[in-house]
Amino acid sequence: MKVGIVGLGLIGGSLGLAIKQAQAHPATQPTIANLPWTVLGVSRRAETCQHAVSQGVVDEADVDARLLTAADLIVFCTPPGTIAPMVEKLKPQLQADTVLTDVSSIKASIVAAISSHWPNFVGGHPMAGGSESGLSAAQASLFEGRPYVLTPTASTPPEALARVEALVRCLKAKLYYCDPVAHDRAVAWISHLPVFVSASLIAACGTEPDKTVQSLAQAFASSGFRDTSRVGGGPPELGLMMAEANRSALLPALYAYREQMDQFIQWIETQNWTAIALALHQTQQARPTFLSDRDR
Ligand code: NAP
Repeated sequence: MKVGIVGLGLIGGSLGLAIKQAQAHPATQPTIANLPWTVLGVSRRAETCQHAVSQGVVDEADVDARLLTAADLIVFCTPPGTIAPMVEKLKPQLQADTVLTDVSSIKASIVAAISSHWPNFVGGHPMAGGSESGLSAAQASLFEGRPYVLTPTASTPPEALARVEALVRCLKAKLYYCDPVAHDRAVAWISHLPVFVSASLIAACGTEPDKTVQSLAQAFASSGFRDTSRVGGGPPELGLMMAEANRSALLPALYAYREQMDQFIQWIETQNWTAIALALHQTQQARPTFLSDRDR
């Protein structure tokens, strides 16, 4: 089977490494037609293509997407806004039975835009990543034990789904299925809301009027602040993409969060320590239910 990867950054590079590793250890190799997998990479910069081949991430790479003409499965690993236009451009060069999938963190708009003109499309989203980006941050084990969500629709051909499922198994990820809209609502809570909560935390700390206190706060900030500010201090384009592409799911999550904050403010103003203790006990109990075994 020929697998094409478009975008050889953290996610695309990790996919390539994971597939190549599975090939090197046949016991874990996926079994579509029991054929060996060839990995073809496409990236916009020639330098990235050269690194990907020399580091064993892919078998062949090119800046020209025509490399993918004979691919059986193509995984789009570029920013969400680039995927539908790329599919549109690549379409005339593909075989009709080529299966397309993507890895982006937004599903409803992408699934709607692509499935209508390429039926063999299955939306996907690996719930794995990190603070680093680019090919140099890629790791073969990135997806191991992590959720990998597929969002087939009623019209997704079963053969197309089977091909993407084989890929996910090869990555040793945990397969989940859900509707694209439910996916976007779920990630609004656990991925997109945290970016705005964390960004608000950093911005609020910056409003301290006393410069001495401000400097002390900056000097004293340690692991707690590092953990809670990480996603709010990430690349601005990522948060902007989340707000624009998932606005309808993000807004209700932000309103709910604001209500929780107002509730804590009211309890602190009225010195209702019993209510605060109970609420914090409940959040302490609830936190592990949102974490995988690997993160607990
Ligand atoms: P990344 O490390 O920055 O890699 C992005 C790749 O896309 C690079 O190969 C880059 O090419 C290419 N690219 C960037 N802008 C492009 C454009 N305008 N046109 C064509 N190619 C472009 O990013 P990533 O973290 O792998 O993210 C890629 C996808 O994975 C995104 O859709 C993201 O939503 C999804 N995702 C990310 C995470 C995460 O935590 N990072 C988790 C799950 C899913 P060059 O290297 O040649 O510049």
